Amino acid sequence: MTDFGGAIRHSSEYDIALLGIPYDAKSSYMKGAARGPFAIRHASTGLMINEFTESGLSLELEAAVVDLGDVDVSGDYDRISVRIRESIRTILGRGAAPIVLGGDHSITYPLVKAVAEKYRPLDILHFDAHPDLYDELYDDPHSHACSFTRIMEEGLAQNLVQVGIRAASTPQRVNAAKYGARWVEMKDLPDRLLLEFRNPLYISFDMDALDPAFAPGVSHHESGGLTSRQAIAIIQAVKARVVAADVVELNPTRDPLAISAAAAVKIVKEIAGKIVEGRKSG
Ligand code: MN
Ligand code: MN
Repeated sequence: MTDFGGAIRHSSEYDIALLGIPYDAKSSYMKGAARGPFAIRHASTGLMINEFTESGLSLELEAAVVDLGDVDVSGDYDRISVRIRESIRTILGRGAAPIVLGGDHSITYPLVKAVAEKYRPLDILHFDAHPDLYDELYDDPHSHACSFTRIMEEGLAQNLVQVGIRAASTPQRVNAAKYGARWVEMKDLPDRLLLEFRNPLYISFDMDALDPAFAPGVSHHESGGLTSRQAIAIIQAVKARVVAADVVELNPTRDPLAISAAAAVKIVKEIAGKIVEGRKSG
């Protein structure tokens, strides 16, 4: 089912593990992101793509990439969070890096919580139209719009850089200042964004960071976003050791030509390349 140009192996030893979380109960506006993992895997199959990153790295030959399937998402948020953390612990315990396919953005809190058990201090590079820094949304502290408040109030990340922001509200600006989040807002985006992180890096990629023209398959259409090329260039240029990542909020019900799913596949590949480069350089 998953292919990534032939890069997916069936092996008990691996460097990178894909993990799906088909969950969208915490999406505030629209459901559909639960089908994201299926859509990304589907778009990764067949003869459409090859296994190379743009830097020429073969994800088939230079890394062992596996797909561990989906996390069981039955039960409530707390039970699912426990399973998410257990899955991540297993992957990290094998010395590998997880790339998680979402799912709505609420999953990032338990994901980061598990990653921060192993890598601390941890930095986060977060791509999103939204800061996801509400204290609560509609009385829910675990809404997909609150993940980074939960992460920062627990001190799970030392540095949080949020790129692509263009739908910020005053309460979220207040929280960004409170938690020391650095914003690269779309209105201020430089031609070349060069980011460097001292600590191990978690990349969280909300597909609505991309402009809806490039990724219409998201629940929240917010114009004025990143082109696919801008997002890829920022990932390629980042100086850091990437240890884990998620690609979330793909909503296949709004993606009839699977263009957004193809963009997600591309983002996954380039992040995987970045992880492999980081592991090679020790
Ligand atoms: Mn988000
Ligand atoms: Mn968003």
